[in-house]
Amino acid sequence: MPDRDARRAELAANLERVRGRISAAARAARRDDEPRLIVVTKFHPAEDVRLLAGLGVTEVGENREQEATAKAAKLTDLGLSWHFIGQLQSNKAKNVVRYADTVHSVDRPSLVAALEKAVLHEPERAGRPPLACLLQVNLDEDAAPGRGGALPAELGRLGDLVARADGLRLAGVMAVAPLGEDPARAFERLASCAEKLRGDHPDARMVSAGMSQDLEQAIAAGATHVRIGTDVLGPRPRVL
Ligand SMILES: *Cc1c(COP(=O)(O)O)cnc(C)c1O
Repeated sequence: MPDRDARRAELAANLERVRGRISAAARAARRDDEPRLIVVTKFHPAEDVRLLAGLGVTEVGENREQEATAKAAKLTDLGLSWHFIGQLQSNKAKNVVRYADTVHSVDRPSLVAALEKAVLHEPERAGRPPLACLLQVNLDEDAAPGRGGALPAELGRLGDLVARADGLRLAGVMAVAPLGEDPARAFERLASCAEKLRGDHPDARMVSAGMSQDLEQAIAAGATHVRIGTDVLGPRPRVL
């Protein structure tokens, strides 16, 4: 299948470039840990995810519940770790906990309750580690609604709720840089939020930040996980 071979070669070249950027950014920040790459496969077909797995990708991110649930169900043989990174309605929690190891978008108490209930009722989670939960932080100083995320002032209470919930593990924080602001500044605020959370919950060490456009700034500010879509898979189709 020449098309498939061409796509594999394209993904391999893109991955190598992105991995090189991650390593260079970590070196520039004098970090001795290597930030982890989560490849965001939303809007791209399950076949691309299969090719990526063959190229050594082990962690993938999705932000749309229906698409993610369908894709993960087709790819159970690959042993991937699925990260759910999009806004999540509480009534969809039960679908997501079937396949996700990590949810990056925990931003309100009602979602914590829904995830806890879903994990406890999902037979497929028996014997699996607790669901890793990241608190999504709204870094917009004008707190524009719609993009999701808890305000920094809400993180203490939300973190305590996750830490006390059965079947959930408080793993850290996640954010998207606000539009129209230097991402470096925004990610510094995220780093402060992360540090504060670690004061109460020392194991909550994940900092999920950085996309195709701003992974360098995120790594400079201490991101442990970057979420890269476009620069690995190419542009997303406008509609699907
Ligand atoms: C789509 C998406 C990404 C990846 O963005 P790119 O700019 O395509 O790299 C990262 N994080 C979230 C929350 C996303 O929805």
